[in-house]
Parts: sequence; structure tokens; C-alpha cells
Amino acid sequence: MKDSNFLKEKNARSLWHPMAHPAASLKNPPTILTGASGVRICDLDGHEVVDAVGGLWNVNLGYSCQPVKDAITAQLGQLPYYSTFRGTTNDTVIELSEYLREFFAPDGLSRAFYTSGGSDSVESALRLARQYHKIRGENGRFKFLSLKKGYHGTHFGGASVNGNANFRTAYEPLMPGCYHIPAPYTYRTPFNETDPERLAQLCLAALEDEIGFQGAGTIAAMIMEPVLGAGGVIVPHPSFMAGVREICTRHGILLIADEVITAFGRTGSWTGSRHWGVRPDFACTAKAITNGYFPFGALMIGENVAEVFESDTTGKANIGHGYTYSGHPVGAAAALACMQETVRLDAPKNADLRGRELYEGLLALQHRHDLIGDVRGGAGLMCALELVSDRTTKASIDKNVIEKIQKITYEAGTMVRVSGNNIILSPPLVLNSSEVQIILSSLDAGFSQV
Ligand code: PMP
Repeated sequence: MKDSNFLKEKNARSLWHPMAHPAASLKNPPTILTGASGVRICDLDGHEVVDAVGGLWNVNLGYSCQPVKDAITAQLGQLPYYSTFRGTTNDTVIELSEYLREFFAPDGLSRAFYTSGGSDSVESALRLARQYHKIRGENGRFKFLSLKKGYHGTHFGGASVNGNANFRTAYEPLMPGCYHIPAPYTYRTPFNETDPERLAQLCLAALEDEIGFQGAGTIAAMIMEPVLGAGGVIVPHPSFMAGVREICTRHGILLIADEVITAFGRTGSWTGSRHWGVRPDFACTAKAITNGYFPFGALMIGENVAEVFESDTTGKANIGHGYTYSGHPVGAAAALACMQETVRLDAPKNADLRGRELYEGLLALQHRHDLIGDVRGGAGLMCALELVSDRTTKASIDKNVIEKIQKITYEAGTMVRVSGNNIILSPPLVLNSSEVQIILSSLDAGFSQV
């Protein structure tokens, strides 16, 4: 390995980081990771900390999951690559598809379309939703609805349904025909309603109103995260997603669940849709499907949608969409091993138990530190702290203050993620109670020392 100064100096000279200003990365070299094991990561300067980010919501099983590493190695030796475009496939991806079909049966999803990640899965869902309506002769249904604060990746389709200006403004104009509904976000809402159930009803009324305004016959699909993640862990009232499902069904609008974060246990349930008792028409997955060990994703397709495609005799159901790496055998091997480990370890159960401890600990921290305006969680191992400089006015926190909290928290033993005014926590689902306490005490140090 090159020496420390070389790496720090050279990093941002020749590479641009996603979601960062190139000049800022040059000025403040990012933390350079050199190793990881269990739920801990190590950096070039010798820190070893609990990774409360879980990679990027994806390393659910931690960094030492040997069965996944072995499966990848074995597959590399056997068949490192072949395409699954028309005419060819591979044995491992067939086995994975059968596994996923069984896993997602309670969600009513029975076919997989493979991708290289979350943005790809979202793009595939949006495209196939439009095609579904065209096959059925409803050519006018091309619009998409989504939630403000929602995150759906950064391809042009995903960015167009994205509900955060940071990922949109610099890249406009985005795709026409995309409309946004207020999110059930009690801390800041145009409805001035803090009761989660009543707010959910108001957001559903706004959805119904927008459908009436656009005309149901012009709308292909509604896309939403069962629990909004990157937008700051917004956990809707249990009535919300079921309400969206009912409205969509009544208007012939497909429901796309963006489960890139929530599938495979993060919410304490096997999928986010199942957490709310909803069956979507599509579920976008990626991230934890391979634990971050290989870039891979799967768009899961509802039985009802599959039937429309598979019974077509006109040729309109020919899929003109796909990626070189769709169904990559090494990704499929990683996914299969990951799924088996996730099921063997009953990952959602631990996510639920440790998630409760973390959420309660964060609520206790809020009593000690005025900068914590809102604490969100209560659905497994995904929590957020929204920071404010003044609790009464809810004025934004100074960027330097939140960065300082993150730095001190890191030095005290925990990596956390800062996104806007939020500190986001999404640790591996194999976390234990003492590691939950390390996260809480590191944050306490961060807030105490600013
Ligand atoms: N959808 C959701 C809900 C996500 O959280 C993300 C990534 N954080 C994406 C889509 C995009 O995934 P990727 O970064 O793998 O393209």
C-alpha cells in the first residue's frame, strides 16, 4: 500500500466523489478506509470504529460474512460472467430466481428482473410500468407519482420521481409527467398536523386530489419507499402505505415499492411492504441483496403484472430494456449466499430488537441535547436525528456544527452519516447490544463537545 501522505494528497486529485463538491474533497481529504471486520471499519490513521452507516444501508450482515465471500470466489472460478440477454442464462441465476420467488411469495411478487443496483432497479420498474399499460392498450398512462422527500436513485427517471431538490435542480429539466405528493413527515409539514394518523389521511387526500387533477387514465404508477430512508428516515403511520395501495388499485395505477433499503430485514420485517401488510405490483431491491459484496439488484414483479406480459401475443411485451450485468453469475452467487445467511440468522428479528434499543437511546439523548430537534425510528435498524439550531423555530443547524459532531462521534468510536440536517443511522443488522451502546455513547460525546 502507498504511504498515508501519498493517499491523502492524491485521492481527490484524480477522482470525483458522488454527492460531494470536488473542491471540498480536495481541501478536506475524506476518511480513507483500509479494512473492516464484523461491524467495524478501520481507517488509514488507525481508528477502528463501529460502522453505524452499515456501508451505505447495505452491509446488513457485517464485513466478515464468509459464506458470501466463499460463494463469490467459487463462482469466479466456475463462470465469472455471461450475459442473460435473450438466448443465454446461467445456472446460478436460475437458482437465485427460484429462491427469490419463494422469499417474495407473501408479497405477491414472483418474477425477478436483474440489475446492477438500486437506481437501475427503479429505472426498470418505471419502464416496465409504462410498458404494462401499453400492452393492455392504455397508451395514455405514462405519468408517475411519488412522495416529496422520497429518494429513488439518480438515473434521470429516478431523479424525476425523487423528492429532494438537492438531487434535481442541477440536472433539470427532468422527465415530464412526474408529480409529487406531500410526505407524511410530522416534524415539518405544510398541513400543520403533528398526529401521524391524521397526517397520513391528509397526505392520502392530497394523493387522491392529484389523481383527480391529472386524470387517473394518464398515470402509470406511484413509487414510494415503505419507510423513507435517505430523506431522513420518515416512518409513516401504519395506515399510510395501505391507503396508497387502496387508492392506486381503485384508479388502475401500479404501486412500485422502492425497497432498495427496506427489503431483507432492515425494518424488522422481511420486506418493508410486508411490514405494512401491503402487496405492491413491483418491488425495487438492491443493496443488502448482496450485502455490498458485489453490485447487484433485482426488480421483483407482481404475479398480476407478470401475467399481462406473459400472455401477450402481439409482441408488445418484448422487453427492450436490460443491462450487461443483468443476472451476473457472481452477483447471483453472492445474492443467493446472502439470502441464505439472512434467513439463517433471522436478521429482521435482531433488527427489531436492536432497533428498539437504539431508538430509545436516541430519544434519551434528545433530552440531554437541545440541538436534537427530532428523533425518528421505530421501524427496525433505521433511525435519524434531525438537528436544529433552535428547537422553537426549528431553524437549520450550521453545516460546520453538524460536521464537527460527526467528527467527534467518529473519534469516540462510531461512524455516522450526515445528510443535510440529519444524522442517519443504519448499522448492520447483526449488531449486538453493547455495540448499540457504543453508538449512543459516541454520539453523546459528539453532542457534548460541540
Ligand atoms: N432507492 C432507494 C430507496 C435508495 O435508498 C437508493 C440508494 N440509497 C436507491 C434507490 C439508489 O440505489 P443505488 O445507489 O444502488 O443506485
